[in-house]
Amino acid sequence: MKIHILGGGIGGLTLAHYLSKSNNNFDINIYERNDIIGGQARSKSPLNHDYEHSEYFWHTIGNGYLNLLDLTKEIISYDDKTVYEHIKPLNNYIYSNENILFNEKENSFLTSTSLWTIIKGIYNTGGYLTFFDIYTLIKIFFQSKFICRERLDSYDNIYWKDITSKFSKYGKLWIVESTSIFLGMDYSKLSAQCMMNMIRNNPDYGLNNSFCSFNGNINKVWFDPWKKQLEKNGVKIYTNKEIKKIEVELKVNEYDENPKLDIIKIIINKNGYSSTHDDIETKSRGILDITSSGSASLQDDIKTTSSINISDASSGSASFDIGSKDDIYINSLDTENLAKLLPYNDYCKLYNLSKQTQTQVLYKFPIKLDFNCNTIIILQETNWFLMIRHEGNLWETKEIDLLSCGIGIWDKKGTLHTKTAKECTRKELAEECWYQISQTIFYKNHIKNNKSLKDKDLYNIFPNIIETLYIPLPEWDIWSSFQYNEENKQLESWESKFSNNKNTWKYRPILKDKSFNNLYHSTAYNKTETNIFCMESAVEAGKHTCNEILKNCDYNNFINIPKKQNYGIVYGLICRITRTIDYYIYKYLF
Ligand SMILES: Cc1cc2nc3c(=O)[nH]c(=O)nc-3n(C[C@H](O)[C@H](O)[C@H](O)COP(=O)(O)OP(=O)(O)OC[C@H]3O[C@@H](n4cnc5c(N)ncnc54)[C@H](O)[C@@H]3O)c2cc1C
Repeated sequence: MKIHILGGGIGGLTLAHYLSKSNNNFDINIYERNDIIGGQARSKSPLNHDYEHSEYFWHTIGNGYLNLLDLTKEIISYDDKTVYEHIKPLNNYIYSNENILFNEKENSFLTSTSLWTIIKGIYNTGGYLTFFDIYTLIKIFFQSKFICRERLDSYDNIYWKDITSKFSKYGKLWIVESTSIFLGMDYSKLSAQCMMNMIRNNPDYGLNNSFCSFNGNINKVWFDPWKKQLEKNGVKIYTNKEIKKIEVELKVNEYDENPKLDIIKIIINKNGYSSTHDDIETKSRGILDITSSGSASLQDDIKTTSSINISDASSGSASFDIGSKDDIYINSLDTENLAKLLPYNDYCKLYNLSKQTQTQVLYKFPIKLDFNCNTIIILQETNWFLMIRHEGNLWETKEIDLLSCGIGIWDKKGTLHTKTAKECTRKELAEECWYQISQTIFYKNHIKNNKSLKDKDLYNIFPNIIETLYIPLPEWDIWSSFQYNEENKQLESWESKFSNNKNTWKYRPILKDKSFNNLYHSTAYNKTETNIFCMESAVEAGKHTCNEILKNCDYNNFINIPKKQNYGIVYGLICRITRTIDYYIYKYLF
């Protein structure tokens, strides 16, 4: 059986990993448009220095990432250790706001699933909660656990920020803004369903520390060795191959009440990326038009056409086609490319609703800073709610150091350039972040007085830092989807980032596409138990899709997928009873 996996991100690679292990003679092919695998989690260095790598953002592993942890135990990294052995705890959390500098070792209370630990932690930091905050927090906690699935999913059309709008100033700061940034999401777009689903999951933890990461850049530690391992197991990975078109056929049979489409072939651009940034922009605007006119509904298409011409085929000899109707096709593309190649209503809506902006600025210091643990610093007093990770320590860089700075709030004006993060060029973004950092009490206590910097006034070396800091290079592929648009005067990213936004749940695909005979989905935005658009959900989807394919091919060596809701006997029973009662109330009274 021939399998075509469209896209070489974690979702597609996980599926290939488990299918190739299942010994069922699958002929597995992956087509990836970049020259490296890893998708949105990829890292790359233009100079090929370990420490010069950059990612869109750091990639953090939560302790509930049971599927990802299992998978990393099966992959051998560059040094013959497993990838799992390269996972290191982020074991020092510093919170800085205008009143306090609070340092918490080992675990952050904000990543805890214990309500009591969270309330106690916030109290200890001096960020006092009101009685009403605590009441609301308890209410959300218990609602998340006790309501039925159907009601929880209906919260897809409510913003998380709306159900928490009555929190006090500190309640908002600690519960709403901090937690969302911990999750790498823009809290202003986040759906209540997504956040409550996270609270509902209560897995057997796979790690002792709440948050971890890899002790090296992710391609070196994980993806590059994984590619070799997959190829050794017979998987064919074609990089620099961009899928330009998916051809679809519908054979209408008068006896068939619900006819389904077949993918009959895919057309691939021989030379990798054909699209420039502008090109993609125009196409995505095209998708918007199609969506608003409503003409791309799959059901309408089924009724009116037997073959859908989806996008411009690349010209003549620059492309080739592959596949047949009897093959299996796996969508492991990001939402933008799914919408571009199969522009049906649901996929276009998912793409348009799931957009977020997210990036990091990586600062390179010519010396080692002496934080001696893997530190996360949350700068609550900054206009952009900046969060810093001590990358140099984690990646064990010698002689130089790296601080990676993430931006939490994109629509508030900064203090140096007085522009929002979106309105800045990349250079202004880097300058502005550093300026905001330099105004914090964290900076005054930890960076300015840092032993290794004690003879230097960082205010004076500030321009040097700006010059030596690591601004992603424009000609560098990894950033090609993140550009300053001169016309609109803002930074724009066309590669979709997260899909945990309001109203996205209903459009997310399931494993086997109901409208196609031969299309499956294996992506981080699949409907999964994890639910959050993250590396874990991409791995979970990959495992489920593998089992679904095995089942449909009558094989039975299924992969084990751990349960995310492990409540214990008594608590489990209570949840089951309340959820059943709530189901009937929801179904018959609403
Ligand atoms: C800024 C940022 C920070 C994040 N931080 C975290 C974090 O801390 N922890 C966490 O767990 N997750 C994090 N994530 C999310 C995580 O990276 C993603 O959920 C996950 O990598 C998505 O995997 P995927 O396989 O579903 O899709 P993708 O990674 O999007 O893979 C899709 C692949 O398809 C390829 N492709 C697209 N179009 C074509 C085409 N036409 N032809 C051929 N190939 C094509 C792409 O190049 C890509 O390789 C973050 C994501 C971003 C962007």
